[in-house]
Amino acid sequence: MQKSENIVFMKLRFILLHIGSLGVFFVKFKLSLLWLFMISFFIKAFGFEAGYHRYFAHKSFKTSRIFQCILAFLGAAGGYRGPLWWAAYHRFHHRYADTKQDIHSPSHHSFWYAHMGWFFNKTILDTDFKRVKDFAKFPELVFLNKYHYICPIVILIAMYFLGEKTSLMGSDVNGLQCVIYGFFLSTLLGLHTTFAINSIAHRQTCLGVRRFSTKDMTRNISFLALPSMGGAWHNNHHRFASSARAGFYWWEIDLAYYMLKILEFFKIIWQVRGVPAHILAEGRLIIDHRKIT
Ligand SMILES: [Zn+2]
Ligand SMILES: [Zn+2]
Repeated sequence: MQKSENIVFMKLRFILLHIGSLGVFFVKFKLSLLWLFMISFFIKAFGFEAGYHRYFAHKSFKTSRIFQCILAFLGAAGGYRGPLWWAAYHRFHHRYADTKQDIHSPSHHSFWYAHMGWFFNKTILDTDFKRVKDFAKFPELVFLNKYHYICPIVILIAMYFLGEKTSLMGSDVNGLQCVIYGFFLSTLLGLHTTFAINSIAHRQTCLGVRRFSTKDMTRNISFLALPSMGGAWHNNHHRFASSARAGFYWWEIDLAYYMLKILEFFKIIWQVRGVPAHILAEGRLIIDHRKIT
């Protein structure tokens, strides 16, 4: 068991993230800041969805020790806490999805608790290495898991210097603008997108559809597919969680999977697990049945 950092420090960081994001109303907007926001948002979202979720929690592909460390850094940079902590609780979530033991099920908790309240539950702050034995053997991951907050701080400092440097070279943005768009806003929206998978994609709502009749309450939430990099195809995912692909069909946009296929082409990752033909056929049968009835 690895002890987590102080809960007050954690809450303070989260509040500061919200306050810092309000800076968008006080600094001048430039088109280049929108690009910076998008790049920063999607890099961190990839670290989370491809790294924390599909790799550390579900082992849906294999990679080198260096690249798994990069994935851990990028995910931690998004403020999702330690990779081993997150993977351990996510494995637990799949095991008990939407039962009383599920730590963030909206079926047994309020909307806001399922969204982000659980993240600050004092009883689940430590990392149980027994649930992530496969990755706990890497000291660099154990280090990043304990000191995960260093990663967002590195991004914050990098954004400031990026802004100040480009400002010197004649660009029209400064360090503060880059910090607000490239760090605060992108991190805040990234976190809330991911939290929404628990609060929205796990409840009975008209916002999503259930393709597979899984034991849980999961739904595919198409309008979150793009910002979540495919994570919002959550009913698909709970049907076959060990796949590196969450958008099972060509029309289900899954940016994390497309990126993984590119990385596989360049041999940075390998043994990328797909969706078995019988599950794809099962899904198609349900789609066809809905068209007829
Ligand atoms: Zn889930
Ligand atoms: Zn999962």
